[in-house]
Amino acid sequence: MRTEHAGENLAALGPRHWARVEGWGMAVSALGYLHQPESIDELRALFALARESATPVTLRGGGRSYGDAAIGEGCLVADVSRMNRILSWDKETGIVETEPGVTIEQLWKRIIPDGWWPSVVSGTMFTTMAGCAAMNIHGKNNYRAGTFGDNVLEFDLLLPNGDIVTCNREQNADLFHGAIGGFGMLGCFTRLKLKAKKVHSGFLRVEAFNTRSIPHMIEEFEERVEDADYLVGWIDCIAGGRGLGRGTVHSANYLPPGEDPNPRESQVLSVQELPNAIMGVPKSLMWWPLSYFTNNLGMRAINTAKYHAGNIIPRGAMHLQAHAAFAFLLDYVPNWKWSYRPTGLIQYQSFIPAETAAGAFEKLLRLSQKAGLPSYLGVFKKHRPDPFLMTHALDGYSLALDFRVTPRNRAALWNLCHRMDDVVLDAGGRFYFAKDATLRPHVVEQYIPADNLRAFIELKHRCDPHGLLQTDLSRRLFGEQFA
Ligand SMILES: Cc1cc2nc3c(=O)[nH]c(=O)nc-3n(C[C@H](O)[C@H](O)[C@H](O)COP(=O)(O)OP(=O)(O)OC[C@H]3O[C@@H](n4cnc5c(N)ncnc54)[C@H](O)[C@@H]3O)c2cc1C
Repeated sequence: MRTEHAGENLAALGPRHWARVEGWGMAVSALGYLHQPESIDELRALFALARESATPVTLRGGGRSYGDAAIGEGCLVADVSRMNRILSWDKETGIVETEPGVTIEQLWKRIIPDGWWPSVVSGTMFTTMAGCAAMNIHGKNNYRAGTFGDNVLEFDLLLPNGDIVTCNREQNADLFHGAIGGFGMLGCFTRLKLKAKKVHSGFLRVEAFNTRSIPHMIEEFEERVEDADYLVGWIDCIAGGRGLGRGTVHSANYLPPGEDPNPRESQVLSVQELPNAIMGVPKSLMWWPLSYFTNNLGMRAINTAKYHAGNIIPRGAMHLQAHAAFAFLLDYVPNWKWSYRPTGLIQYQSFIPAETAAGAFEKLLRLSQKAGLPSYLGVFKKHRPDPFLMTHALDGYSLALDFRVTPRNRAALWNLCHRMDDVVLDAGGRFYFAKDATLRPHVVEQYIPADNLRAFIELKHRCDPHGLLQTDLSRRLFGEQFA
């Protein structure tokens, strides 16, 4: 077997072992030969070994992709999380250079005391710079700040043949626009240079208010789009009938210069750190009581309580919230995904043009409710287009739906996702590999513009002619096209 041969040769490399590696949602996993290189030389050696033994390589960062984007059955898994040094930080210009495994947590903690914040962050701080670039992640400010890639100035990419190529908007521009959002298929990021956002306080001014329906939420987003720095909606995906699509909007703004009399004090880490306990319960234990509610009845109760609590807040009431607390709400309960044990969850995030978004998202909610498989968490965001080949970003909205997976519902859930794909395609929508576990090749061929797909496959053949870089997601969706 090819991988056994690789195993013998790998003895010469650093720490490694066979491991069952999971997608973050725990619903999919693969047995891979896990290696955690600490330097570019070790990465190069790994690629050389992969070439000699014709063993595919799966690149992995923080492992926060929900599905099979960072796992590969029988692959050498190159986990870059130990290549995690911040190489340079310029507090005058806000330009930072990092190794690939630097996390968003490391980055914000390094730069906020100097009055800067990462331009784009995910809802969790445990993603890496490489993982964020490879998926071209978006934040709650996508409609204003663009995607992660829009804020990358330059990167170095280690190709499977061992060469390192520097890419930016002038030099190797085609590779720049392909590797960002290229889901680890063209090469391995070894250095990234990014631009951060200047802030004048450690706090944001936040307003929260309820909305009756998805069209109402869109109306409220559109009213604020010129002024709000961040907009995000929570949707109660269990409520039906007249409550269909009801939810809560959170809108946030940076404080202008001078408004915070002591920015140095609000920017210190102790103000930003998330609390260790919630109502006296250590956060590390919170997933356990939560697990009693991770079912249709429990989530209906939680959603109803949350929505009605939102009605109590007077309209227009503002409060100050630390950047980290607003950005990383999902990190408040560490390992909350364990409440979905033993078989985990998947997320289905679709992106739909503004004109068709409301109707299509309502159809998705109805379909899932009718199937008896309502989503337990729905998150709504606004987006804008970007220039990356395989991008999910468009001029419109996205709805991310979390679904519990059980041995009994698995087939029905996958079937539901396939029916939802048709609604999204009919509405001119797109999907996102970071969240995917269920897409099929013909859907990808329909939503990615043909020219972009052709250009990406050409880049794949040029950068990785032997198809060394693979994941279970790339095999599922692109198979022979990448070989
Ligand atoms: C709780 C939670 C909240 C989230 N919120 C958001 C959100 O708000 N917005 C959003 O856009 N996403 C969000 N995500 C998804 C997450 O941001 C992406 O999946 C991101 O890619 C994860 O980064 P990672 O470092 O964990 O990468 P991984 O998941 O390990 O890998 C992601 C991709 O990067 C590739 N890769 C890894 N290292 C390299 C490298 N060195 N060079 C080239 N390719 C590489 C992998 O092959 C894989 O295809 C969220 C995820 C979770 C779990």
